[in-house]
Amino acid sequence: MDIARFASDLNPTSLLFLEDSYLVEFKAVVLRSSREKRRSYICLDRTIFHPRMGGQPNDEGFLECVDGRIHIDKVFISGGVIVHVGSIVEGDIPRLGETIYGWIDWLKRYRIMRRHTAGHLLDYCISKILGKPIHTVDVWMGDPCYTIYDECIDVDDISSIEYEANSIIRSDRNVYAIYMDFEELQHLYPDAPNLYRIPRGLEKYRIVVIDGYNGIPCTGTHVRRLSEIGTVKLVGVEYIENRSKIYYDVHP
Ligand SMILES: [Zn+2]
Repeated sequence: MDIARFASDLNPTSLLFLEDSYLVEFKAVVLRSSREKRRSYICLDRTIFHPRMGGQPNDEGFLECVDGRIHIDKVFISGGVIVHVGSIVEGDIPRLGETIYGWIDWLKRYRIMRRHTAGHLLDYCISKILGKPIHTVDVWMGDPCYTIYDECIDVDDISSIEYEANSIIRSDRNVYAIYMDFEELQHLYPDAPNLYRIPRGLEKYRIVVIDGYNGIPCTGTHVRRLSEIGTVKLVGVEYIENRSKIYYDVHP
């Protein structure tokens, strides 16, 4: 299936997870559906399924319609349109205009949320310990979870970074999203680690703020309070030319 062609000429999907990362179930209207053998492809007017994007693995879950049930295991975004892809567990795919019910695998999602907020916090801590702004090159919140920094981070600094992060987690700050244009973003958060690589020309940017620490342009799902991370553990570092790939995870 050509995902871009399948999603073409539909209006952008309303991304419910941007306003509330804690939604586990939802209802939506089917705008397009198709099947190839046991695989189904579905576009909805709105969704809680986060696609594989911004370092987050896609959510998994189920969509249930009058005629059947589909296990969603891949979620793509193309031109702002989310395409839910999965195997038909029972019956058939939903019909155009039908209202369907869906839910996500919350354990998988919540772990991603905790890792994602921990990643933003590590960005702050690394910049603080190194005493200068740092750039991130790539992030991945699947297994194994890591961030690549455009900097050689000394292995001796790793325990200080981890100690700093866990101290801040214990202060249990709020985490929330605010919206602003690019000019305001550059003015308020000039040291955001991904500022140099985010797309330009958007009307509004979503900034995820760890209260009192940092703000990073981000469309991901995050926890509401730092204490939800639990403990962050830096599990290894790999050097690739002048870059450091830091592996980390959250516990318990
Ligand atoms: Zn992020």
